[in-house]
Amino acid sequence: MKDAPAKPVLKPRTRAVHAGTRRSQYGEVSEAMFLTQGFVYDTAEAAEARFIETGPDEFIYGRYGNPTVAMFEERIASLEGAEDAFATASGMAAVNGALVSLLKAGDHVVAARALFGSCLYILEEVLTRYGVEVTFVDGTELDQWRAAIRPETKAVFFETISNPTLEVIDIASVADLAHAVGAKVVVDNVFATPVYSNAIAQGVDLVVYSATKHIDGQGRCLGGVILGTREMIRKTVEPYMKHTGGAMSPFNAWVLLKSLETLDLRVRAQSDSTQTIADALQGQAGLSRVIYPGLSDHPQHALAARMMDRPGTVIALDIEGGQAAAFRFLNALQIITISNNLGDAKSIITHPATTTHQRLSEEQRDRLGITRGLVRLSVGLEDPEDLVEDLRSALAAARSA
Ligand SMILES: *Cc1c(COP(=O)(O)O)cnc(C)c1O
Repeated sequence: MKDAPAKPVLKPRTRAVHAGTRRSQYGEVSEAMFLTQGFVYDTAEAAEARFIETGPDEFIYGRYGNPTVAMFEERIASLEGAEDAFATASGMAAVNGALVSLLKAGDHVVAARALFGSCLYILEEVLTRYGVEVTFVDGTELDQWRAAIRPETKAVFFETISNPTLEVIDIASVADLAHAVGAKVVVDNVFATPVYSNAIAQGVDLVVYSATKHIDGQGRCLGGVILGTREMIRKTVEPYMKHTGGAMSPFNAWVLLKSLETLDLRVRAQSDSTQTIADALQGQAGLSRVIYPGLSDHPQHALAARMMDRPGTVIALDIEGGQAAAFRFLNALQIITISNNLGDAKSIITHPATTTHQRLSEEQRDRLGITRGLVRLSVGLEDPEDLVEDLRSALAAARSA
């Protein structure tokens, strides 16, 4: 690469619009979508040279990289404050790629117990099948991390804010314990979003996102990304990813690249609405609990405030009267839709015990606080007053049955 003159560090919203742009010879304003599986070389010698080392604007094959995908990778790396990124077909391809590329038989992993169902599957069913030992801990208890991490521990894994009960894990303290034995810290950072995340600054080695969530934020496509140092991404992650086929499609990369331009605006507006709704619902008849890190009664309220400048776009509500009342509540909502995505422009509600966390045993659910009355609300871009009204009338309907 040419030595560019030192540029002033631009603010995140400027980078969200400009970082990573690669213009073609036509000088297009909106980033181009390169729907191509391969690339041509001027000469046989040029082909040979490219297979030895690819430069920043040189590509070989769609499974290894693509200009539109590279624009997405560079833009999100810039927003996350990471040196490099590898984009993947889905969030789960990213979680799988980050863990499997790091680990081998005989290694030990410590993970927080409160995990997205598919992440739990990778840790419990896949890694163990290949001789990796996994210990689960209560992620909010530092003593449990301290007791579980040992010299053979090669990685720790957790969701920075857990789904659906919104526990917040102290990244810097867990990273200190992991790094003391040379273990890598891998986090699933979906709920924090790149807008609030300072995971890398707090010591995380690989940050993973499902881009399907806030990054798309408009319910259109699947995607994921693994972020970290250039060394980790190019030496550890890329060889595994490019040979095993979890590449992001250029079409999805284009959608997600354009979505990054508005991510900050969307997520901040959604977080503001979530706080408004959490405040409005506190003490409301028919609710036994309102769980949101932005409320002062949340067990990690102070930690969340230290770690992120806003507490996120998801809230959990425990409806009095268990599953029957929770179902009546969901069915009475007029604006908020029943679905299982999150981070979307449309407000979405789900009943974890019977959907996303159905696979868990009753005992596992009890341990995670996933009661029969618990619902998870992802707050969208609608006017928060309309959402509060929708929630209040549905609560009244759930109680009057
Ligand atoms: C959705 C989600 C995933 C999986 O992402 P996909 O894009 O659906 O593969 C992983 N972790 C968390 C926390 C999620 O919310």
